[in-house]
Amino acid sequence: MQFSNVQSVPPLDLKKQLSEIREGLLEAVTEVLDSTQYILGPKVLEFEQAIATYVGTKHAIGVSSGTDALLLALMTLEVGPGHRVITSDFSFFATAGTIARLGAQPVFVDIDSETFNLSPVHLKNTLEQMTSDERKSVKAIIPVHLYGQCADMTLILEAAQQFNIPIIEDAAQAIGAEYRTPSGIKCAGTMGNLGCYSFFPTKNLGGIGDSGMLVTNDDDLAQQARLKRVHGAGTEYIHEVIGGNFRIDPIQSAALSVKLPYLNTWHRARQAKAEHYKYLFKKYQLTQVVLPESVYQEKNLTHSHIYNQYMICAPQRDELLKYLNQKQIASRIYYPIPFHLQKCFQSLGYKIGHFPQAEKVANEILSLPIFPELTEEMQEYVVFSISEFYGRQAI
Ligand SMILES: *Cc1c(COP(=O)(O)O)cnc(C)c1O
Repeated sequence: MQFSNVQSVPPLDLKKQLSEIREGLLEAVTEVLDSTQYILGPKVLEFEQAIATYVGTKHAIGVSSGTDALLLALMTLEVGPGHRVITSDFSFFATAGTIARLGAQPVFVDIDSETFNLSPVHLKNTLEQMTSDERKSVKAIIPVHLYGQCADMTLILEAAQQFNIPIIEDAAQAIGAEYRTPSGIKCAGTMGNLGCYSFFPTKNLGGIGDSGMLVTNDDDLAQQARLKRVHGAGTEYIHEVIGGNFRIDPIQSAALSVKLPYLNTWHRARQAKAEHYKYLFKKYQLTQVVLPESVYQEKNLTHSHIYNQYMICAPQRDELLKYLNQKQIASRIYYPIPFHLQKCFQSLGYKIGHFPQAEKVANEILSLPIFPELTEEMQEYVVFSISEFYGRQAI
């Protein structure tokens, strides 16, 4: 096969996206520049309101990054030394790192084999196997909506309610992803007590630098979070509690306000690319590769999976990765090592074999490029290259 227009397949193409919205971005950024209001102010408030409306929460608090959203969420729940926080064993480092940074102990739980998200079954087991003192020390549960698909929140919320533990959702990769709860369709990040988003440039809604957002429907938590975002000072230099500098920049808020109206279109474009990958894998009879499932699709959700990443499970993963990278295809491993096997968490006492599902997935998982501007020719080049690797022909 000839792929004459494809020299390489990047992980995403921000240049292409920029060319479409450049004028709007320049105008918004210039406005901030000329206003000389470089900290908080109307642009931040406007963007916070837009996010609250988009995801459907009462409050949205703009912060400096997705990591800081998690940190601020934990600080808002007053998590500290002597406390435990339960989370998924398989996520980006920030999910567990923020817990440990506050002096609390992360407690890891194995993942579901289909969604790669925190397993509600293992969550319940973990809680039930704790002593009552241990259970009392659990101050939060952090499910992660990995790759753009929600964790099984109905069961996770049930377990959390049974033991009266607050939930912080790590929705860094899943802004706009939907999930059907018994009380209706909800957006990722709005089902627990606090939800965290990241606007890191590679996320579906990416800024022109770092930023993030914390959302909640709880007035008291919102007030505490706003206070702790600015060193715990409601009035300048009067510090009621200890916080930090976790503010979002007006320039990020302005840029993201320009991008937000495109987000659903971008989600749909990513979904279309995912569908096309599915078609191509069938065409090339690559049955040994497991494709990502949009698990909640049958429940009539428009955005059951927003494909921040398109993750496959493949035999001979490391060799395949090398092969694709040699062919200039930006395939990556998110994430090669589950938390319980990370060196920095050695002291927690976990061993190989503790979380078989997370370990298996970490050994098999591989990303294929997915972004709204990806072309069908690029996609065929990717799948054709995989078929070359496994020595398969198209039908
Ligand atoms: C990106 C990400 C974060 C951190 O967000 P930053 O904005 O990069 O700090 C946290 N959790 C998950 C799952 C992420 O993907």
